[in-house]
Amino acid sequence: MQDFLRNLPKVELHLHIEGSLEPELMFALAERNGIELPYSSVEEAKAAYRFKDLQGFLNLYFQGMSVLRHEQDFYDLAMDYFKRASSEGVVHIDIHFDPQAHLQRGVSLDVVMSGLLSAKQEAEQSLDLSVGMIMAFLRDRPAEEALQVLEQAAPYWSELDAIGLDSAERDHPPSKFVTVFKRAQELGLARVAHAGEEGPASYVIEALDLLDVCRIDHGIRCLESDEAVERLYQKQTVLTVCPLSNVSLNVVDSLTHHPLPALLDKGLNVTISSDDPAYFGGGLLANHIACAQSFGWDEEAFLILNRNAIKEAFTTEPRRQELLARLDVVKY
Ligand SMILES: [Zn+2]
Repeated sequence: MQDFLRNLPKVELHLHIEGSLEPELMFALAERNGIELPYSSVEEAKAAYRFKDLQGFLNLYFQGMSVLRHEQDFYDLAMDYFKRASSEGVVHIDIHFDPQAHLQRGVSLDVVMSGLLSAKQEAEQSLDLSVGMIMAFLRDRPAEEALQVLEQAAPYWSELDAIGLDSAERDHPPSKFVTVFKRAQELGLARVAHAGEEGPASYVIEALDLLDVCRIDHGIRCLESDEAVERLYQKQTVLTVCPLSNVSLNVVDSLTHHPLPALLDKGLNVTISSDDPAYFGGGLLANHIACAQSFGWDEEAFLILNRNAIKEAFTTEPRRQELLARLDVVKY
């Protein structure tokens, strides 16, 4: 099964590129940029990668990205993950990135975008990997600031596939961001949003109704509302479920109790992703293996999940058809 999962062409729709920063790279970039970290060694940093909830993780996540200062740092960050993912059989990734987290540290949007876009170009040329770009807004920051950043990103609109909404979900409902999402719609950008991870099922419904999203990131708490499940089922809105992330952040107490099988039983359009792989115990392959072990799924289940993901990926039609065709001939 592990060989099958490694060789399977895999697609992930929910990956925060800043959350792919491994302690080793964090140390290398800190040294290059003359930044002092609060850890004396890679091992000590790894030990600190233990947290109890979303806020605990976010504190660490924002501290880690302080080493990202220059275009080269963003390039190295993204290429490091692209190479690792590609070596594990990942063929497409839609990456989220958080411009506000860098702007507030005095790092310009040009620095962030140039670094990430060169890595995307390099990966698409040299690896068997396509990359989609989701500019995400921090929902615990003011909506006016998000709108400002979206306008500021005008030179890059044509490079973006979508906007997203992430960070601390509680008390920051989708309704707060209606204006920003309307503007993105006017610009012809797709919209996705985290909802129903820590927040209630009503946030899933709000994201569908008020933000007109084509994708719900996480969404697992939809199961607490028949209406939310029905709405997701009717529209077949894709859910980007991140099993190891949910366990790391104690959204569920163990993988064996994870609602993934229940979501599939309801006929929902489910995919799996790694969210923040450096912090949550591994990338997309690790998530696949963990699901195989916990749920006893057969090969067909993983073909379905990746077919769902390919159909919704932010990529060109030829690439989509190519990836679907490759899944059709996977042998097991
Ligand atoms: Zn996420």
